[in-house]
Amino acid sequence: MNKTILIVEDEKNISRFLELELTHEGYEVDKAYDGKEALEKLEASSYDLVVLDIMLPKINGMTVLIRLRKFSSIPVIMLTAKDDTMDKVMGLDSGADDYLTKPFEIEELFARIRVCLKHKKVDIEDSNLLEFGKLKINNNMMSVYYNDNEINLTKKEYELLKFLLENKKIVLSRDIILNKVWGYDYFGDTNIVDVYIRYLRSKIDEKYNIKLIHTVRGVGYILKNE
Ligand code: CA
Repeated sequence: MNKTILIVEDEKNISRFLELELTHEGYEVDKAYDGKEALEKLEASSYDLVVLDIMLPKINGMTVLIRLRKFSSIPVIMLTAKDDTMDKVMGLDSGADDYLTKPFEIEELFARIRVCLKHKKVDIEDSNLLEFGKLKINNNMMSVYYNDNEINLTKKEYELLKFLLENKKIVLSRDIILNKVWGYDYFGDTNIVDVYIRYLRSKIDEKYNIKLIHTVRGVGYILKNE
């Protein structure tokens, strides 16, 4: 499956250029034109990598990175407008995986992207791994695999699956799931749990023709083998 890259860049001509080049390289591309839009997209969708400009309207790239790191370890390559050592140091300290100074050769960006995506794969061997049969969650990278196929989940789907997996073979009520995954301050409909269970089933159970997420009638859900 093609890797999906989010380009966060307010300069339309640069953004368009990167989109064309990355698409030509075989990546799926999405774009955000300011920091606020970037964070909204990163919360709502799952990407494989972010190319993040520092000088952005609304929320600057450094702040985007700091907020992003609170919920995701997705690889981030930062773009600095000038050869600003301060920006580089701050970016790397804040959890950027790499940076490039504008103007850069597109081949250089391709190379950095390949390295960042490769590291992501290798990291699955490390200790922060939850497993249940062929289902694997790498908590450092927020990535999920079934039989070594990566499953793209949104942030909430990921948190729900992680909670089910951490409590595998235990019946979990909708209320417990709601409190642990959505938080005690969530005042929406408890149906949200069922909705997200459906999303997970379509991406895992139905896709791989297995039964992992079971309904316990009148109570909630359990993750177990058939
Ligand atoms: Ca910019």
